[in-house]
Amino acid sequence: MANSFHIPYGKQSITQDDIDAVVETLQADFLTQGPKIEEFEKNFAKYVGAKYAVAVSNGTAALHLSLLAHGIKKGDRIITSPITFSASANAALYCGAEVFFADIDPDTYVISISEIEKLLNAHPKGYFKAIIPVDFTGYPSNVERLKELAKIHDLFILEDACHSPGGYFIDSKNEKQLCGNGNYADAIAFSFHPVKHIAAGEGGMITTNDEDLYKKLMMLRTHGITKENMTMDVSNPEEQGSWYYEMQELGYNYRITDIQAALANSQLQKAEEGIDRRQEIAKAYREAFNNDPLKMQQLNEGFFNAHHLFVIEVEDRKGLYDYLRGHNIFSQVHYIPVHLLPYYKKFGWKEGDFPHAEKYYNHCLSLPMYPSMTNEEQEFVIEKTQEFING
Ligand SMILES: *Cc1c(COP(=O)(O)O)cnc(C)c1O
Repeated sequence: MANSFHIPYGKQSITQDDIDAVVETLQADFLTQGPKIEEFEKNFAKYVGAKYAVAVSNGTAALHLSLLAHGIKKGDRIITSPITFSASANAALYCGAEVFFADIDPDTYVISISEIEKLLNAHPKGYFKAIIPVDFTGYPSNVERLKELAKIHDLFILEDACHSPGGYFIDSKNEKQLCGNGNYADAIAFSFHPVKHIAAGEGGMITTNDEDLYKKLMMLRTHGITKENMTMDVSNPEEQGSWYYEMQELGYNYRITDIQAALANSQLQKAEEGIDRRQEIAKAYREAFNNDPLKMQQLNEGFFNAHHLFVIEVEDRKGLYDYLRGHNIFSQVHYIPVHLLPYYKKFGWKEGDFPHAEKYYNHCLSLPMYPSMTNEEQEFVIEKTQEFING
């Protein structure tokens, strides 16, 4: 019976409601640029508690567009974590900016604020233009503390929240700060790739409380074209006819389709349920592994992990990975440190630059974590993991 399992590290849950929502859109007037996009944006903004939300084609586009809207350009420098998906750093390269890294905290695995401080203090104000903290595994970045640094050093904060919709932390005023609410970060990027919390096929979102940034994002996601605030002297716009538009910036086609927005919007209705199930799974792993020779991510007081991932560190990672695969359990490694990817090594980054990130990478493994995983499946994962690590 055990052999009938096939357990990936993550996967989407699609219900009949989702299918109906997509079919309905297929039969409606718009496949793209229709009403489903705005509906999803409104609902998502409400879900995370932000003023504005801009849906885009994927999470990478969300990151790129945010930097672009802030005016990040050639010669600018940004700081991000070495333990993230390469897209967090690539977005800055797309703008012609240079990427710097600050090492992770060895216990929570998110970027270390003291390492960021060291880097900032080693350079004059204005040397860095933005920081991209990553809510790795779903663990919220302490954007309140980052905001204090950002004020001093004049930095734009783009939070990569692709792992953390539904995550939150309690700030120093004892207030709950949902990832993406825009109270501290200037812009927050989300992804709706099927392994993430909310599946759209492909899709992304930027949330912000900054109206100017919002307007720029709306324009940039569709070529830089607008029908508002014309620069031409159209004293009587009526005379121009309603076809008239201006391209004011060099934007992109980073639009999401109505089909994807309908799916994501339907998925959003079940997001809380998904988060609850992820917490149950995380709790069961923690209890089961409590006395085992492995390390689990530290959860600091007041931080609520949305658990896109459940990560452990073990002595023989490759051994455990292969052993689990032999039992049809497909764990995964998140991530190869970005500075050690061949493309980034070309900039001069090398082994030894970020010891905590590198040590973490040598031992980490992401165990299966998704809402539709059954208790039986999880028990099997736990049993096989313990069998291996306890010899
Ligand atoms: C998935 C992910 C992205 C990119 O999102 P896409 O929708 O795949 O483009 C960026 N950053 C992190 C941390 C991610 O996990």
